[in-house]
Amino acid sequence: MIRMNEHYLKLQASYLFSDIAKRVSAFQEAHPDREIIKLGIGDVTRPLPMACIDAFHRAVDEMGDISTFRGYGPEQGYGFLREKIAREDFQSRGANISPDEIFVSDGAKCDTGNIQEIFSTDISIAIPDPVYPVYLDTNVMAGRTGFYENGRYHGIVYLDGTRENGFIPDLPKGKVDLIYLCFPNNPTGATISKSQLQRWVDYARENQSIILYDAAYEAFIQDPDLPKSIYEVDGARDVALEFRSFSKSAGFTGIRCAYTVVPKACEAFTGRGEKHPLNTLWHRRHTTKFNGVCYPVQRAAEAVYSDEGKAQAKALIDYYLRNAALIRQEISALGYDCIGGDHSPYIWVDTKTDSWAFFDQLLEKAGVVCTPGAGFGRCGEGYIRISAFNHYEKVEQAMRRIREVL
Ligand code: PLP
Repeated sequence: MIRMNEHYLKLQASYLFSDIAKRVSAFQEAHPDREIIKLGIGDVTRPLPMACIDAFHRAVDEMGDISTFRGYGPEQGYGFLREKIAREDFQSRGANISPDEIFVSDGAKCDTGNIQEIFSTDISIAIPDPVYPVYLDTNVMAGRTGFYENGRYHGIVYLDGTRENGFIPDLPKGKVDLIYLCFPNNPTGATISKSQLQRWVDYARENQSIILYDAAYEAFIQDPDLPKSIYEVDGARDVALEFRSFSKSAGFTGIRCAYTVVPKACEAFTGRGEKHPLNTLWHRRHTTKFNGVCYPVQRAAEAVYSDEGKAQAKALIDYYLRNAALIRQEISALGYDCIGGDHSPYIWVDTKTDSWAFFDQLLEKAGVVCTPGAGFGRCGEGYIRISAFNHYEKVEQAMRRIREVL
């Protein structure tokens, strides 16, 4: 008899955004004449930079010409893209990362979800709360947790992000093997300083742990003193992997391109204590299970590093940050404490009430969709996340409506 992976039965209901979508479509059916403004899911709304579109078109034409046609490419990404990434995103900021430490993929979601495969199933894991749900759910699926009780899975070390610690979790009390960190954070928008990040790297070095650093929102960082990469911190090359994405930095959510950095110095141990480089393990996993990102998409991603591409991508970020500033200003003026929005597209609002109840209130009274904080973990209860990914006029309209009903 065929057996299922019973760890899936431990997963909590459906994925957060499907729950939201169900409530929104039920509302829409009941009120077909009401226009809904979506400030919920973190999906971009602006078109791709023109430099990327031009490169995309040129690459599509190459595929139609016998002299420039390409079939399967290197699974870990074309050299032209990996070289640009290493130079522009890391070496230019003093971080010593080489092209063969970069693995191009079709998304940071897949990478942050799949990376756990290269670690043993019996390691201890620390995951922030609140945070992007993929880290937790993929470890549940892999059987690294016990059952769910009182809003938490047994067997996970939760790193609480609270108002008291400014949404920067404290170091774990004991020893943990694998640590997920996400800055600028989804959902809170909190950022981490170099000295705070240094403490995590030092902890990982002392405890032979590995940090999985999700920097999907680094492009939103405006303060030159804040680290965009964990490799700007001393010693991180030995203990940290980093995830990046073109989704939010250049509007690639629909065409899919991201990358993971696995420094050759990062190692994990066998049960007998023998060291193995994680770069080799991830290379094996990636080349076995993935067949490379579409060539025109990689050319479009390469164009992000051209002079025009950089200026156009920056204009996208500036646009969303302008929305974020408006949201933060308006919601604060209504008397709610907010963080985020200054180096992030997300504003984290203390609703002083149940977060799903506040979500329903905004939907029903203002026709505005946000994301209930409880969907990101127990510490998110009492908060909502408002996303700045929409058209400025829509954001203005949403704020007007919220002002009228709250
Ligand atoms: N990491 C974080 C923290 C995210 O919020 C998201 C998407 O919302 C992703 C990764 C996924 O990015 P991608 O579009 O590259 O899969």
